[in-house]
Amino acid sequence: MRLDDFVAKVEKMFQKPPGYYGTADIISPRRDLTALLEGQRCPLFPRRKRSRAEDWNLVDEHDSVDKLKAALNRMADQESELLERLRKVNADRPANGAEICVCRTPCTSSGDETQPELISCRLCCDHFHPACIRWDPVLNELNGIYLCVRCLRGRRPRIEDARAVLNKVEVDGASIRSLEAVLLRHLLDRTEAWHAKTSQLLAGLSGESNVAILSDEQKSLLNQAIVAGLSLEIATDLSKEIYKWDLLLNPPSVRQTHLLDEVRRRPLDASSADAAVFAGLDKKTSKCKRSHSPTNNGRKKNKKSYHEDEQSCSAPNCLRPFGEKVSWVQCEGGCDQWFHILCVGLTVQSTEQIDTYLCFKCRMCMPGTKQQPITLA
Ligand SMILES: [Zn+2]
Ligand SMILES: [Zn+2]
Ligand SMILES: [Zn+2]
Ligand SMILES: [Zn+2]
Ligand SMILES: [Zn+2]
Repeated sequence: MRLDDFVAKVEKMFQKPPGYYGTADIISPRRDLTALLEGQRCPLFPRRKRSRAEDWNLVDEHDSVDKLKAALNRMADQESELLERLRKVNADRPANGAEICVCRTPCTSSGDETQPELISCRLCCDHFHPACIRWDPVLNELNGIYLCVRCLRGRRPRIEDARAVLNKVEVDGASIRSLEAVLLRHLLDRTEAWHAKTSQLLAGLSGESNVAILSDEQKSLLNQAIVAGLSLEIATDLSKEIYKWDLLLNPPSVRQTHLLDEVRRRPLDASSADAAVFAGLDKKTSKCKRSHSPTNNGRKKNKKSYHEDEQSCSAPNCLRPFGEKVSWVQCEGGCDQWFHILCVGLTVQSTEQIDTYLCFKCRMCMPGTKQQPITLA
């Protein structure tokens, strides 16, 4: 198989006709989790077609295919940790706050306090206004589970199909020359590992799907398997099993089901496609935001960070965040150490509000400082 044919096949297999993600974005670990946790606005634009040059930058950054593979493994590990944290943060965000949905506007629906008119994403736990959601046909495969536009990036092909395309190109020995092949191999390996682990877990449960007889440990393992399975952009024959379990373990509220049903029945209007979903977040504002980002603002900075930084974060429990843009802050209490803002419990907004950042140790040495201790979520 020629390399061009292979790339075209992978593209067709993963990319949705209208969509926000290019093939490389879909099949590699998520790079948006850090930005979302930092509180960046993260607007999405209709399919950003990665240029081949950009893809090669990704390879160049790691010098060699082996280094890229090692970086992918690290990113995959961090992905689940960052996602876990984002789930907690989003679940705690109040429905009447301005930090929800793709539009980042509070919910003003007439629904009562306990039943806001919002749909939540099963993966990132963000809440969405039904009007801000467009039905994605891939959701039909998910048995009533809702995944938001960021958590459902591609078409989720079957593992057999993905494997067949990759085998063809690996036999022909062209894989070394293709970023897609490296990324797809990595995703397949992850999916196979999930499948093996999940099949073992399910085999340990009794035949009938009865939640009542499960131990707390079994429930927690099942929930982990569900979240991990929903994160994968490839489906296996266990995916459906896991969705069934999820409906038993975490049945969506009647309200959510109803709202989702309305979204599903709404006619898909091609003209109001992707751009309309993000009205209010036009390109201009985002460009403007970007130039005001604290990059050159002395002690605050952003760095591209696909892999481990040369400079390390001094937080004792560094989350090793990665993404297009990772924000750092430097302590001005004397130690001059650098920290990921996430690792010290800050967001982009709170970082902008403080004039001077003092790390925990320096704060302890300086009684009488105004800055309140920051507690980690
Ligand atoms: Zn909204
Ligand atoms: Zn609302
Ligand atoms: Zn989501
Ligand atoms: Zn850190
Ligand atoms: Zn310090």
